Amino acid sequence: MAPRRAGIGHARRTCYSRGPTRQPPLNPMLHRAPTIGVLSFQGDFAAHAQTLERAGACPRLARRIADLDGLDGLILPGGESTTMLRFLRAEPWFDALRDFAASDRPLFGTCAGAILLARVVTHPAQASLGLLDITARRNGYGRQVDSFTARIAVDALGPEPLEIVFIRAPVIEAVGPGVEVLATYGGRPVWVRQGRIFATAFHPEMTDDTRVHEFVFDLKPSS
Ligand code: GLN
Repeated sequence: MAPRRAGIGHARRTCYSRGPTRQPPLNPMLHRAPTIGVLSFQGDFAAHAQTLERAGACPRLARRIADLDGLDGLILPGGESTTMLRFLRAEPWFDALRDFAASDRPLFGTCAGAILLARVVTHPAQASLGLLDITARRNGYGRQVDSFTARIAVDALGPEPLEIVFIRAPVIEAVGPGVEVLATYGGRPVWVRQGRIFATAFHPEMTDDTRVHEFVFDLKPSS
């Protein structure tokens, strides 16, 4: 079977994915673009898919558990974590996402996605996957009208400042000893990682800058 070609927008990109369905490159000189899933029940999954494409990946919208097969990484996007939880409980997604994390493929939660990954969620408390040892206080930066942007320095991304967009964002109030803080704003962590599990309080898919996605999924943007 020939490698799957992605649709319009990256006609020259050949998408391989790992796992049992992975196809070996027919021509090793071809650019190998990793396939990154975006959980697509609700929220800003389309913006993540566009950012992934710009960053040199092949995005795949994931709505069924079977859509996780062969992915190289997965994004849990921003949106409403309570709504997403309803979808996650309708099928054995908790087990599937915990298995995904155990397979050591990058898992990246942004805003509501970070809330879903957190070990503890407050204001109010709600169920979560518990895959990332942080405490997330929902809407900790204020209400919708208080959404804002800022520019911060991020060592991991080089000298160019990063513009960050907050939309009813959670405050990462506490991080466990195994959690590395990659960026802070106002003295609080806004980008963290624990092994290959990453989370941002902000929305990296809301600007033209693809560096956060590149870092998390080790992507090489196409020219
Ligand atoms: N306030 C939302 C929640 O609690 C998150 C907001 C967002 O993802 N932009 O789920």
